[in-house]
Amino acid sequence: MLGQMMQWPLLVSSILRHAASYHGDTEIVSRTVEGPIHRYTYADLSRRAKQLANALGRLGLEPGDRVGTLAWNGYRHLELYYGVSGSGLVCHTINPRLFPEQIAFIIAHAGDRVLFSDLSFLPILEQMADALKGLKAVVIMTDEAHMPSSPLLPDLVCYETLIAEEADEYEWPDLDENTASGLCYTSGTTGEPKGVLYSHRSSVLHAMSCALPDVLGLSALDSVSPVVPMFHVNAWGIPFIAPMVGAKLVMPGPKLDGASIHELFEQEGVTFTAGVPTVWLTLLDWMDSHGQSFTSLKRVAIGGSAVPPVMISRLQDKGVTVRHVWGMTETSPLGLAAALKAKHEGLAPEQKLALRAKQGRPLFGMEFRTRGTDGKPIARDGKSFGSMLVRGPWVAAGYYNSPASPAHAEEGWFDTGDVVTMDADGFVQIVDRTKDAVKSGGEWISSIELENIAQSHPAIKEAAVVAKPDERWGERPVLVVQLKPEAHFSRQEMIDLYTGKVARWSIPDDVLVVDELPHTATGKLLKTAIREIVVNRLQVGSLDEDLPPVSR
Ligand code: AMP
Repeated sequence: MLGQMMQWPLLVSSILRHAASYHGDTEIVSRTVEGPIHRYTYADLSRRAKQLANALGRLGLEPGDRVGTLAWNGYRHLELYYGVSGSGLVCHTINPRLFPEQIAFIIAHAGDRVLFSDLSFLPILEQMADALKGLKAVVIMTDEAHMPSSPLLPDLVCYETLIAEEADEYEWPDLDENTASGLCYTSGTTGEPKGVLYSHRSSVLHAMSCALPDVLGLSALDSVSPVVPMFHVNAWGIPFIAPMVGAKLVMPGPKLDGASIHELFEQEGVTFTAGVPTVWLTLLDWMDSHGQSFTSLKRVAIGGSAVPPVMISRLQDKGVTVRHVWGMTETSPLGLAAALKAKHEGLAPEQKLALRAKQGRPLFGMEFRTRGTDGKPIARDGKSFGSMLVRGPWVAAGYYNSPASPAHAEEGWFDTGDVVTMDADGFVQIVDRTKDAVKSGGEWISSIELENIAQSHPAIKEAAVVAKPDERWGERPVLVVQLKPEAHFSRQEMIDLYTGKVARWSIPDDVLVVDELPHTATGKLLKTAIREIVVNRLQVGSLDEDLPPVSR
């Protein structure tokens, strides 16, 4: 027997309708590319998203057409999220930190019909002018006063002019909730980037689950600033969650340095923010060197790569609670969040810190399975490890316009490529990416564990651990560090740092100091490039010839 409840599709447009009706006067504040701070409300967003939807129709776009965006976090980008997806088109966010050739590849692969770009990315557009010729329009997200003129791109359209003449009346179509709403390509560190095609249903369910107290825990009392970019997996769903709960939104725009972020947080009473660890490293260092504190910030969600425990402590000392989260482009992104349970309240501070530093426990809606090398589930003892598989309504079942299938999707489970431990409470700890773990003498060494320890040393700004080839052991770990200004760090200090904290055979063989560690376009350590640096140095000679190898 079927239930007798209404069929009400879960649509992205329903979030905006809700925000405009019941949180219409709640503010959205954006630092603009043009410079000034822009303020308006959810009611304004709704009106302008409707004008945009009308303009997209006038451009001749058909349901399902892809619309590309190259943009920072700001109000016009938000209008695209709703105006494009809400009207039955697909909002394809593109990472502007990729190389122009990669961007051109992605635009062609996605078959984008129109591209919207912030002013900042004009040089990128000019470099790939040929690849843009087939588009119906390239729209610059600014007003007439700031429109650039480009001999290479003579037909640029001005965003404000495009929507100015349009009516702000528009009936959001009653789409099937499985209609595609968004498209985001994986970072492509291994092979060509692949497109993950989100649906209205997956986006709304993900947002509802992420809003819960033990995940991001957002409410109408919050002032929320997504520092994680809207071009990186929908800014972890925050552009959907904030209007869903009626939170104020504070968009940092292009300025992501410590001083600008701190100033914006303080001015706008930001209570919650989210982003990858490197952003907070920069902010904390700036705050410490300028003797600054937070007056409103209470919580920060950190993920994308592992949060070093020392970062949790540094933020805690400033009155901010860290919620470590885990996710992937293929999982919309969030799947795990490290919120403590009632039974953990009596734990000692170090034990609580150790739990908070884990990637977290499953969100409702995400099912996890582990698999040891023997193919059997691993013991949930927080020690045994194996690969992590996941399934759920916001996990990719395929890739856009590609025969490639997410690993193991045919079995109904997606292989995350992460090696993990899980405890009886469901807390998962990522030991490593399968491809980043160091395999030494048949044992796996966790690069994340070694990086976290290095990160706690006062001389080290950022640390990476990668494998170097080794005749006897197969691979051995090497620590690669960027030091703080004027700081010094020797191999002996490294050995002292690890001694007693990890098994002796896990201690890196060498340390290599570099001016800067390379990152991916999404701010993660670029392990392939770091491995190359190490291998190139080894060709010149040993990394450090003066000291004997660490005994094992
Ligand atoms: P991407 O799809 O580019 O966002 O990358 C997803 C991968 O990032 C995951 O499979 C993890 O290996 C890594 N990742 C994401 N969040 C975390 C985290 N909190 N700790 C460690 N690794 C993470």
